[in-house]
Amino acid sequence: MRGEIPIIVTSSPIEPGKGAMGRSWEGRGTVLDLDQRADSTNLSHELGHQAGYVGNDPIDPSHSSDSANLMFRMPFPGQTPDRPWCEKVAALFK
Ligand SMILES: [Zn+2]
Repeated sequence: MRGEIPIIVTSSPIEPGKGAMGRSWEGRGTVLDLDQRADSTNLSHELGHQAGYVGNDPIDPSHSSDSANLMFRMPFPGQTPDRPWCEKVAALFK
């Protein structure tokens, strides 16, 4: 994948009962549920998954354990990306 990331925006539950705002499959695409208040933070978070972000969350290594990090399990406005996110995302577009 180079520069193309399929994104589907929906108003239907992605994972019924779990309240997920977005879900990504690395290299394949992303789904965002606007009914769960998905916004640009969620899109940036999902972009991290597309890029293959690896964090330090002991429960789920695809996320960060830092709540201020964009890749924390629950994205919310005001979080910021870390260096691994920036490097992985930049590599998507080289
Ligand atoms: Zn995530």
